[in-house]
Amino acid sequence: MPQAQHYTGRFAPSPSGDLHFGSLIAALGSYLHARAQNGIWQVRIDDIDPPREIPGSADRILATLERYGLEWDGEVVWQSRRHDAYRAVLDDLFQQQKSYYCTCTRQRIAKTGGTYDGHCRDLNLSPQNAAIRLRQTLPVYGFDDDFQGHLQANARLAEEDFIIRRRDGLFAYNLAVVVDDHFQGVNHIVRGADLIEPTVRQMSLYQHLGYPQPGYLHLPLALNEHGDKLSKQNHAPALPEGDPRPVIVNALKFLGQTLPENWQDHTLPLLLRWATTHWTPSQIPRQRANAQQM
Ligand SMILES: [Zn+2]
Repeated sequence: MPQAQHYTGRFAPSPSGDLHFGSLIAALGSYLHARAQNGIWQVRIDDIDPPREIPGSADRILATLERYGLEWDGEVVWQSRRHDAYRAVLDDLFQQQKSYYCTCTRQRIAKTGGTYDGHCRDLNLSPQNAAIRLRQTLPVYGFDDDFQGHLQANARLAEEDFIIRRRDGLFAYNLAVVVDDHFQGVNHIVRGADLIEPTVRQMSLYQHLGYPQPGYLHLPLALNEHGDKLSKQNHAPALPEGDPRPVIVNALKFLGQTLPENWQDHTLPLLLRWATTHWTPSQIPRQRANAQQM
């Protein structure tokens, strides 16, 4: 991996709605963490699940990042244009007998306790109407998060033969994310704590594929007044139009960062530069419940 020496981070939203305050935290946190280390910061659109996508939202996300002054390096990578790469990795895994076809229904898996029991592992099923599962021989049971500390996974989750290509033919999120992060030279992943759970699966995929492992930092989640995380599913409002600086200031406060005196006198680029030079991850407030999500 040529960029292994150089910090490379990314922000990878899915175009299932507009950016909201919660996604701004992930964008800004990953941006500042990269820029504070003179690192590269890339943007990828994770448009791998067309049924969940909202037309136009990818372009609006990119326009919002620009309006908020979060300039990325290089070209935006679109997962919808990376299918050949995913297919090649799936073929490799299959040829190495690291994966297999599975025709189990959700109902069958629910009946056996909700975790997949490896039923189709040695049945040599044909591709028709089948998902592809990873033959899990390299489970990862926990990892050291740069902010959350050591996180331990549920063993059944870690050991499960998880899906890498869905029965409907769509590539699974875990597969696409790992293939693309490796392709983009990403060696540090800063994202929201809602993505802690799939991390051990992604780490095991890195091992199966022989890729070097990135570092992880999971940021606390912004919650709404009911204590639920801000998300497109629970209708978190889109970031407001107009001056982005008060919103950036709120995001910096949420991340526990100190603000310049009279930030109103700072232009947006100056405010972001100030935030970069003063970025102190140890000031990010600890939040209950993050670790319990595993
Ligand atoms: Zn099965």
